[in-house]
Amino acid sequence: MERLQKVLAHSGVASRRKSEELIAKGRVAVNGQVVRDMGIKVGVKDRIEVDGVPIARESHVYYAFYKPRGVISAVTDDKKRKVVTDFFTDVPERIFPVGRLDYDTTGLLLMTNDGDFSYKLTHPKHEVPKTYVAKVKGVVYPKDLLPFKKGIMIKRRRTAPARFNVLSVDHEKKTSIVELVIHEGRNHQVKEMFHAVGFPVMKLKREKFGDLTLAGLRPGEYRKLTKKEIQDLV
Ligand code: URA
Repeated sequence: MERLQKVLAHSGVASRRKSEELIAKGRVAVNGQVVRDMGIKVGVKDRIEVDGVPIARESHVYYAFYKPRGVISAVTDDKKRKVVTDFFTDVPERIFPVGRLDYDTTGLLLMTNDGDFSYKLTHPKHEVPKTYVAKVKGVVYPKDLLPFKKGIMIKRRRTAPARFNVLSVDHEKKTSIVELVIHEGRNHQVKEMFHAVGFPVMKLKREKFGDLTLAGLRPGEYRKLTKKEIQDLV
């Protein structure tokens, strides 16, 4: 369910503000009833008319995207840097990223125009496991990361227990590759966690979101999610 003015705006009728004006003027009907209530929410099955003409609803779309390094997880950027939607010029729907990956982080990012889907997946209660692979400075022994199991304090809040696996260590270069699975999505969480135990992150990639992987995608590429993949996520 989405707010009526948002649905109107998304279907290209008018801007959000102008859509509110249309509602206030009594020019919008839902299932044959004129509505002037700004708070009303509508579902995909509701029939919406403006001045008696049904609007074309934008259907929901869902993509898995392999975000490259040097791209902002947003739909616009004040500083004119590349944003994730620049890769979706063929997609007419107004999609946005589900959560975010840092500018220098690569990997799996979901894109959609479904606000409910995005809200559910980014809400901490939902606890979708997210799998990251980090290259960190220093030689990591598994015991060094034991605090991750209990959770560590970041900005006076303890992180939820996380799983990790030291994948490889380069003793010459003094770097390590570590897989980390977290269930939250706090700002810079993975970098903050490694920083807290003394291993600064040099490179970060999100390999998985739930059971979804990057299989078949190269940086900058995307693909539609299947119905089953969407259902499995929510
Ligand atoms: N954690 C981070 O620190 N950065 C990301 O981009 C994602 C998770």
